[in-house]
Amino acid sequence: MAIKITEDCINCGACEPECPNNAIYEGGVEWSISDGTTVKGEFKLMDGSVISVDAKNEPIASDTYYITPEKCTECQGFHDEPQCSAVCPVDCCVPNEMIREAAEQLLDKKSRLHI
Ligand code: SF4
Ligand code: SF4
Repeated sequence: MAIKITEDCINCGACEPECPNNAIYEGGVEWSISDGTTVKGEFKLMDGSVISVDAKNEPIASDTYYITPEKCTECQGFHDEPQCSAVCPVDCCVPNEMIREAAEQLLDKKSRLHI
């Protein structure tokens, strides 16, 4: 499952540069698929819809850092453990129980983000 950031986040920013998929954003900042990835054109989201990789999408949180599940791969293919969880000083990067993905799905997402 994807990782999420809880409201315990203290906005230290330590996790953001550690994400291999650029899935972590500061609160209130719009996210896009193409930020920090090599993908071009269009991208299929988890619900099957397709968006432009350069589309600017609504922030998921405004007061804390947040993770977009569409880009989080639990660090599969890059690291043995989620890097955001590893560096967070207050342990607020936790599994998102609402989004369960198999390893194959996560690796597929990773391969589509890094073409
Ligand atoms: S688990 Fe990995 S891919 Fe997901 S947000 Fe954290 S650092 Fe990024
Ligand atoms: S490392 Fe933890 S406390 Fe710091 S910004 Fe990231 S989620 Fe928030």
